[in-house]
Order: sequence, then structure tokens, then C-alpha cells
Amino acid sequence: MISLATLRGFCAHRLSEKHWQHEPFRIDDHAYATNGHIVVRVPLQPRWELCIAQRDVQTAIERLFGMYFGDFTVEGMPEPLPELGPVDPCHGCKGRGWIHRDELCDDCYGTGADMKARTSIGGVLFARAYLAQIRALPAHRFLARRIPLPSLFWFAGDGCGLLMPIKTIVVAP
Ligand SMILES: [Zn+2]
Repeated sequence: MISLATLRGFCAHRLSEKHWQHEPFRIDDHAYATNGHIVVRVPLQPRWELCIAQRDVQTAIERLFGMYFGDFTVEGMPEPLPELGPVDPCHGCKGRGWIHRDELCDDCYGTGADMKARTSIGGVLFARAYLAQIRALPAHRFLARRIPLPSLFWFAGDGCGLLMPIKTIVVAP
């Protein structure tokens, strides 16, 4: 099982205007974290005191996970991600995630990582920073899928998640 701190690593930056993404939240017996591009789900741990998601968030998240994990059939073989190489700090904010102290960095969405660094997995380009985050999860498996499908991942402790295709670019195989 991952720690709450690790789960928090998937949340949006504190300057993001999507306040509900600032902290992990719970829906029934699962805990979730998202920044809008990536969303992670793990079983809720007894000592984690998380807010219950708002009704509309709950509906959207349940729909998302129901749609992609509900009756999931393997269309490809989920595999561990390969060695990815370094992820440099964002040039726009020098890795801080913000500019002028109160403005979210548009270049990296507050992640502080160089989001222009891309890695191709299964013929699809992904921001390397997100792949590195997934790769750091225990016993992870990743299934790259083409737009408009989100890519899927799994990890130890019954964890799973989706990497949304918004910032991926499809390239020829
Ligand atoms: Zn930045």
C-alpha cells in the first residue's frame, strides 16, 4: 500500500483553481487523488481522514472508473514501464510550480517538471514526468492506449489509475 504522502503527490498544486483536487478525497471505501491529467485510486486506509467527494465529483469519478475498470478486458498486455531517463525541472518556473508566488505555472500545471519531455510507450507519447510518477509506484503495470482512451495503470495494494489523453500526442507506430 502506498502512503498518504505518495497519494498526495498526484494532487493538483495548491494554486490550482480546482480546489477539490488539492487533497486526496474519498468515495465509499476508496481514496482518490487527481490533478485532472492523472487520477489514482487505492483502498481507503483506516487512519486516513479524507473528505468525502462532492456529489458531482463522485459521479464523474465513479463513471470514469466504472467505464474503464468496471468490466475491463485486457486489450494489450500491461507491462512495467521501461527506464525513462531524467525528468528535468520546468524551465518556466525553475521547478517550483508557481510564478510570482501566487500564479500557477502554465508550462507544467504546477508539477514543477518539464512537461515537454516526452517518452513514447506503445507508439503513444506521454509526458515523462507522469510516467516517472507511475513508475515509482510499487509493482506497477502500465497499458498505453491511443487517444481518446486514457491509459491505465495498476500497482501493489489494489491500486489503479488513469492517465488522461489530454496531453498525449499520438504518433505513428
Ligand atoms: Zn513550471
